[in-house]
Amino acid sequence: MKIGIIGTGIAGLSAAWLFNRAGHRLTIYEKSLTLGMDAHSMSFVQDGETLRTDVPPRIFNAAQWPNLLNFYRKVGVAFDPIDASQSFSSFGQPGFLNVNVANQPQLPAGADIPEQTDKIMNDIMRLAFEAPQDLAEGVSCRLTLAEYLRSKAYSQEFIYDYLYPTLASTVCTCSYGSIDAYPAPIILKTLLNLFGAQPLLKTKYGTRDVVKRLSQGINDIRYGASVCGVNPTPAGVQVETKAGQTEIFDHLIVATQANQALDFLNNHFEGECNMLRAFSYEDVRVVVHRDPALMPAQSEDWAHINLIVAQDRLGTMCSVWMNRFNPDWHVEQPIIQTINPLIEPQTDTIISQYNLQRPVVNVRSLEGLELLRQLHQQADRRIWFCGSYAAEGVPLLESAVISSIGVAHRLSINIQDIMR
Ligand SMILES: Cc1cc2nc3c(=O)[nH]c(=O)nc-3n(C[C@H](O)[C@H](O)[C@H](O)COP(=O)(O)OP(=O)(O)OC[C@H]3O[C@@H](n4cnc5c(N)ncnc54)[C@H](O)[C@@H]3O)c2cc1C
Repeated sequence: MKIGIIGTGIAGLSAAWLFNRAGHRLTIYEKSLTLGMDAHSMSFVQDGETLRTDVPPRIFNAAQWPNLLNFYRKVGVAFDPIDASQSFSSFGQPGFLNVNVANQPQLPAGADIPEQTDKIMNDIMRLAFEAPQDLAEGVSCRLTLAEYLRSKAYSQEFIYDYLYPTLASTVCTCSYGSIDAYPAPIILKTLLNLFGAQPLLKTKYGTRDVVKRLSQGINDIRYGASVCGVNPTPAGVQVETKAGQTEIFDHLIVATQANQALDFLNNHFEGECNMLRAFSYEDVRVVVHRDPALMPAQSEDWAHINLIVAQDRLGTMCSVWMNRFNPDWHVEQPIIQTINPLIEPQTDTIISQYNLQRPVVNVRSLEGLELLRQLHQQADRRIWFCGSYAAEGVPLLESAVISSIGVAHRLSINIQDIMR
């Protein structure tokens, strides 16, 4: 079959890899000048050394990301465990909590545990114990996280000094309002997958190596090709780019964000547009810089991942100490990636900055997933959707891969054979 794919994030690339392995003819459209998954990675010079950093620095583990790991193993991506230390502090104040990979506290022997830390640790343990029971008994997807936490009387310290900072600036990267509205079972399952002692991993050679491996052997990748129109024709699906190129495919896989797909799907696709409109996105700002003012106030609190809570407790920034993420870097000066900075880094310390987006999950997006499932069941379907928004769970690399496997499955590709 002749297959078109729009978008080369992990969803488009994993779909491309599967369809290429199954012997189909592929044409891939990407509006960036490089493969989308690696589009924000950057190189810069520090102390005479050229360093490359992934933006954002993505992590995964075996419990939450099993399909991604299968893919990475299959294409030969090497991965390493990361230093999983995390610090929690209030902006400008000493840290109040340091945890390791299993979210166990790191406290000096004999130290007096502050009440705030004590409450957080008790509630982490309570959640680790009670959430599996609650999930086994059934937690409705209509119950929001805020309602669940209230019904279980979790402490304000646990919610606003630990859980929301973790979810809002790392796991889900969205506002506290959206965290409130997340379906409780989705967050509980994800937290349990992160609480275990499974090592957190990163790719050994960065995203550039991942995209190179996933795109190997695919010859027709059109960079800088922004799709502006998609039309049904008797011969197949016609794709039109802003540069005026048109081409017809037996099947088209739309692997952009849901909101981006709305830009090029027109009135011919009312059902598809209704489905796509159910998914909303929030902006995420990422700044790569050298300003220690965006790290914990006391240098002894610096960990690999630093969650710094606003003084009004209504927001958090996450500063990743990239020297720890990349232990092979031999540079003295701290290189920091801050997600949603609470203050601006000094201008002369900024290396680069990016505006990204992330989908949020709520009752409406779950309805969107049901509409997507129904569309994908249609017998004469020729347009398919994948992306991190297009599968159950927190939108991560894993959900994107699950969605592309789902599309390949619907088009009769024998996944087990290919992944063997
Ligand atoms: C700060 C941050 C940290 C994160 N950390 C992690 C992490 O640690 N672990 C993890 O698993 N996930 C993480 N994520 C989420 C993860 O990065 C995303 O879920 C994933 O990259 C989404 O992939 P995708 O293929 O669905 O979409 P995208 O990567 O958005 O790909 C869509 C592609 O479509 C292209 N496109 C759009 N419109 C058009 C058009 N008209 N024509 C042609 N091409 C078009 C775009 O250029 C893009 O390349 C993080 C996200 C953020 C923002």
